[in-house]
Amino acid sequence: MRNSVGAGRVVVLLGPPGVGKGTQGVRLAREGDWDHLSTGDLLRTALERGTALGKEARSYMEAGELVPDGVIVGLVGETLATSAPGRSVVLDGFPRTVAQAEALDDTLAKAGRAVDRVCLLEAPEEVIVKRISGRRSSPGGRVYNVHFDPPVREGFCDDTGEPLIHRADDRPETVRKRLAVYRRDTVPLVGLYEERGVLRRVNGQGGIHDVYAALRTAAA
Ligand code: AMP
Repeated sequence: MRNSVGAGRVVVLLGPPGVGKGTQGVRLAREGDWDHLSTGDLLRTALERGTALGKEARSYMEAGELVPDGVIVGLVGETLATSAPGRSVVLDGFPRTVAQAEALDDTLAKAGRAVDRVCLLEAPEEVIVKRISGRRSSPGGRVYNVHFDPPVREGFCDDTGEPLIHRADDRPETVRKRLAVYRRDTVPLVGLYEERGVLRRVNGQGGIHDVYAALRTAAA
């Protein structure tokens, strides 16, 4: 089912951890004035605030495992329910399993919406491991990379001046685990969305601006 007249677009960013979904998703949302829904960001906020959700998610996240589907589906359902149907939304890091994709279809269908486009960002695993090892995050959500996109002042956010964080789940052994989980649980979504004709592949290996240009075309 296509989205009803007046409904905003629903674009899913799919791809392995570290391929650039966060950076690109934030920009796509900012430049298009779209909503941006990142389950990883929502979980990290819950974790920092020490909420029940954060406590439940912590051990899975630190081990590089997926948080159980039921938890994620509840979280996304609440967030999507508060998003105006007329606004476009970019989903970053969700869905990550077939069960999550089915739950997303149900939630959207209730609002007369559907997934319009799935942009699959692709890059070889060596590139990903290097990228993730250099990744530093600002508490405000902005992500830098010491190799490719460093802040002006080393270790501090350009926007807020806050010290940058090296996420616990960005350690090399956890990254390898996260890549294995991606292959096992998330790659099946590629075929599923390809069959529906909504999947577009985007080369995630170029510079940030080239990848963004390709993504913007793919998302349109
Ligand atoms: P991300 O920042 O998207 O890489 O997410 C960081 C971590 O949060 C993942 O490694 C998972 O432990 C958890 N997470 C984020 N999104 C999901 C999701 N859709 N399903 C299950 N776990 C998730």
